[in-house]
Order: sequence, then C-alpha cells, then structure tokens
Amino acid sequence: MMRALQLTEPGVLELREVPVPEIGPDELLLRVGAAGICHSDLHVLHLPFQLRAQPLTLGHEVAGTIEAVGAAVEGRSAGERGVVYLCWSCGRCRECASGNENVCLAAGRSAMPPCPGLGPDGGMAEYLRMPADAFVPIGDLDFRQAAPLADAAPTRYSTSSATTRPARSPSPRSRRTAPTG
Ligand SMILES: [Zn+2]
Ligand SMILES: [Zn+2]
Repeated sequence: MMRALQLTEPGVLELREVPVPEIGPDELLLRVGAAGICHSDLHVLHLPFQLRAQPLTLGHEVAGTIEAVGAAVEGRSAGERGVVYLCWSCGRCRECASGNENVCLAAGRSAMPPCPGLGPDGGMAEYLRMPADAFVPIGDLDFRQAAPLADAAPTRYSTSSATTRPARSPSPRSRRTAPTG
C-alpha cells in the first residue's frame, strides 16, 4: 500500500492508503521524489461538480526515480532519475506525428490528451504509474527543482528540438486508442 493525496469528491482532499499501482508492459513505476502544486490543482479542487473520475490522485508536476520497468520497455532501468512529461498523447496519430501532440486525436477532437493528476492518477503519492515514453531524465538535478519544470517547461521543451526528445515507441496502448486517419 502507499499514501496518495486524493480528491474524493468536489472540494474534498484526503490522504488515503491505496494499493501501489501495477504497471503494464509499456509503463514505468516511478518512486515519487517531489510533486508540485499547480494552480490547476486548486481549480480542480474548487470545482463545485465532478469533472473527472474520483477518487483522483492529484499531481501533474512530478519528479522521481524509476522503481520498476515494464516488460516491453527498452532503454530504461530502475534507479534512473527524471521528470514526467505530462502530455500523455498517443504518439501515433496525425497530429502527434506533426508535433501537435497537445491536440492528439486519440483523446477526441475537443478533449485534451491524458495528463497525470487530471484523469489518470497523478504524482501526489508515493508511486506513479506512467507511460515509459513520458520519462525525461534529469541527471542529478534536485527533485524539488525539477518537478515544476514538468509543467512550466514543456513549451520550451517542445520547441527546442525534436532531437532532444526521447523517441516515442509504438505501444499497445497507443495502437488501441489512435484513430487510423
Ligand atoms: Zn499545471
Ligand atoms: Zn496522438
């Protein structure tokens, strides 16, 4: 079991004991080193209605250490330190292929791609289950300094160079959800 800060109903946060998530073949289990609080978290907390499935573990600014690696993941190993790239787009659709992953078609035309803590469970917990291709190594950068970069820096990260981005590998997850068009 692990501790997780969860939104259990509109306006209610609880520190709860929940099972450590199990990972799929294309995923990592991250031992969280730091998780930032974003103003979006406060918006979600103060919404008078339920926007996402609840209980929901908040936290989309996350840094930590790889604890376990899915069976199909290559090039990652336990003990690596990194931040969680928060746009969990499919990586396969037309928009993703064009570099417009923020409007990934897999989530539907009017939806945003999955983001930890705003759909899938986030990083305000001891462990986070995440897509392996969302892991960005940080060397020995302090977790508390690195975590907010996961939210504040992706625009620069996306525009800087495709060559600095880890190659996105096809995954059963994306093949299942990506439209063929
Ligand atoms: Zn944010
Ligand atoms: Zn996509």
